[in-house]
Amino acid sequence: MAKRFYTFIVVPNASSRLHKVRVPMPVMYVLALIGVFSFFVAVSLGFNYARMAFKVSDYNTLQAENTELKIEKKNLEVTAKKLSTKIDTLSTLADKLTTLIENDAFIKRFGKAGVGGSTVDYRTSDILGNTRLTIEALKDQTAELENRMTLLEQLAEKRAQTIRFTPTIWPVRGRLASHFGGRLDPFTGGTEVHLGLDITGLYGTPVHSPADGIVIFAARKSDYGNLLIIDHGNGITTRLGHLARFQVKVGHAVTKGQIVGHIGMTGRTTGPHLHYEVRMHDRPVNPRKYLPAGE
Ligand SMILES: [Zn+2]
Repeated sequence: MAKRFYTFIVVPNASSRLHKVRVPMPVMYVLALIGVFSFFVAVSLGFNYARMAFKVSDYNTLQAENTELKIEKKNLEVTAKKLSTKIDTLSTLADKLTTLIENDAFIKRFGKAGVGGSTVDYRTSDILGNTRLTIEALKDQTAELENRMTLLEQLAEKRAQTIRFTPTIWPVRGRLASHFGGRLDPFTGGTEVHLGLDITGLYGTPVHSPADGIVIFAARKSDYGNLLIIDHGNGITTRLGHLARFQVKVGHAVTKGQIVGHIGMTGRTTGPHLHYEVRMHDRPVNPRKYLPAGE
């Protein structure tokens, strides 16, 4: 059986002889296989290289982003810590204000301020426990603080309102001629119960409303003479007697300190003075109870 060859004719240059190279068929097959295999290896390597190059560039970008994020996280942590400290300071301030209002002498004496409500104080450490600072925790803290501040605002508002409607100022400044309680009757010399304070002053001296309220009576009333009755709400009324004249009428809203009349000597009186009564649910109480201590 004749061997099959591939014959290659090689011409080194124009003048030289031709060289014949005879390559057997099997060798040709092997060479062709090697060629095809090499091609695929080369393509695969090129593809892998391209993929790796892409990955490296991706990795570099990610690393840069990671560094940036780490810095950002650190900054956030510092900010969160600062915020937490600030919230703690505000929380302590809210504590102090609550204590101040709750222990206020005025509220203790006439306390209708309704001090109460939830004042559960969540400390930062309670909220955070051992976990790291989180924005969620900060949000909870600020919400709690907001609630406490709102409660405090209500307390302060109620306190201001209580003061406005409580007879805490003298209607006139003058000599106290008669105290509240038992005394000698200036007319008969016998004993009687005096239901208010007698404050002497010059005839015509302005008389001020001791608190905010509504005028419910302004007319002559036997021994009282010209009598003004002011309703201050919460069961409190005041009576101002022996007035020379009125400055307000029934139904008028008056404010604390407003001039409502003038000292006179109408009714059962030995001289110009103001008869001043404070009544709680229409029972006379000592007006001094509501006046600043020491006055
Ligand atoms: Zn009197």
